[in-house]
Amino acid sequence: DDKKLDQIIKTIEANDIKFLRLELADIHGLPKSMAVPLKNANDVEDIVNDGLLFDGSSVAGLASINDSDLLAKPDINTFSTIPWRPESKGTSRFICDIYTTEGTPYDGDPRGILKKTLEKAEKRGYQYNVGPEPEFFIIKKDENGNYVPADEAEYFDVEPLDQGTDIRREIVFGLEELGFDVEVSHHEVAAGQHEVDFKYADALKTADAVITFKEAVKAVANNLGVKATFMPKPFIGINGSGMHCNQSLFKDGENIFYDPNTETQVSQEALYFIGGLLKHAQALSAILSPTVNSYKRLVPGYEAPCYIAYGFKNRSTLLRIPASRGLGTRIECRSADPSCNPYLAFSALLEAGLDGMDNKLDPGEPTEENLFAFSEEEIAEKGISNLPTSLWEAYHALEEDDVIIGALGDKVFNQFYNIKRAEWDAYRIQVFDYERDEYLNV
Ligand code: ADP
Ligand code: GLU
Ligand code: MG
Ligand code: MG
Repeated sequence: DDKKLDQIIKTIEANDIKFLRLELADIHGLPKSMAVPLKNANDVEDIVNDGLLFDGSSVAGLASINDSDLLAKPDINTFSTIPWRPESKGTSRFICDIYTTEGTPYDGDPRGILKKTLEKAEKRGYQYNVGPEPEFFIIKKDENGNYVPADEAEYFDVEPLDQGTDIRREIVFGLEELGFDVEVSHHEVAAGQHEVDFKYADALKTADAVITFKEAVKAVANNLGVKATFMPKPFIGINGSGMHCNQSLFKDGENIFYDPNTETQVSQEALYFIGGLLKHAQALSAILSPTVNSYKRLVPGYEAPCYIAYGFKNRSTLLRIPASRGLGTRIECRSADPSCNPYLAFSALLEAGLDGMDNKLDPGEPTEENLFAFSEEEIAEKGISNLPTSLWEAYHALEEDDVIIGALGDKVFNQFYNIKRAEWDAYRIQVFDYERDEYLNV
């Protein structure tokens, strides 16, 4: 670590860095930061060693007002220079772990929660990998001041139809400067919708990357005069934005979800992992699809799942095993959307999967039919259950599921649960134009 720190100090000197941001994510997974002006590059050493005190009660979901003092301690592995800040007198950042003032890890820190779950898996020799696919919209205001998609393009379109080409280009350069291994970028199915995929890594690195990714996309778009949004379903009638989570477990560098000797070349462990994800799917929804708006995305017909099932080539099921084998063998969870907190999401997904492996939960036969083609009665006849259809259903499923509560820890669970209930309560008393259109003449 001393070597790493020396390297960081050299980078700060060489690049004329004048601000050091200490970043953390709130319970919604939104980045929060404080900036320390650097009088001298060596100041970094003290900041890394001592951390910085802050008011935890002013960060959503972190701490209560009567127990608010917390310590942000930089994780030295997360150092990077922020490409969208000025080049001269620039800004670098660390993502922080949160400690109590007594110097112990704080049990209300989502990043700390994920670390704990990962340690549990590491004890068994597992590295848990996640490759996320965060989708987003680029939007603009029309002449009436309403937000609309910034272009009319469709899946895989090119310029000039795809007005996002140059924006994605700048996003990719920014991400690469931040150390991302970008795999592919393209226009998505809906007008104004885009996807930029980056290479999977262990879940902690990926969760940090998701926070950074969203920050980068929004900042680059803003600098180019447009707005990017990760809202799950910004517009009715067209696809919403998911953040599919591709997952695998490695042991001694081998992917244990791969087994060349089975018919599907998918291992029994992978099937048990799926069994766990299916069993806990309802409660997982509260974490993976955590906003009122998330449930407007999870409706039939838009490549987003509504039924608790798994399949191979099927994009109408909750879980999909993509065709790639060997190291690339993975389980894709399609319900997750980019409004989730990635630390909590990956912790919960891993606990659900491990529960499946520990208890040898049989996922049953895969579903290879297009589930959107069936009526609700036909789905029920097949013995397939629904994902929650509202945040209300989801947080009630969460309160019944000890495995998923365990994945959050009591403190985070209570904070999360209370915030989600308040979100639902604020929503359910609203009266929308839609209702006046429907009911004014009753
Ligand atoms: P889709 O077909 O749904 O668009 P992709 O094939 O584009 O999905 O999935 C890409 C994601 O899967 C990338 O983030 C990629 O790095 C990730 N991925 C590939 N192999 C693995 C693996 N072994 N574990 C986890 N994620 C993986
Ligand atoms: N946008 C779709 C969703 O809401 C996913 C499209 C895809 O498979 O890439 O999940
Ligand atoms: Mg996509
Ligand atoms: Mg996908």
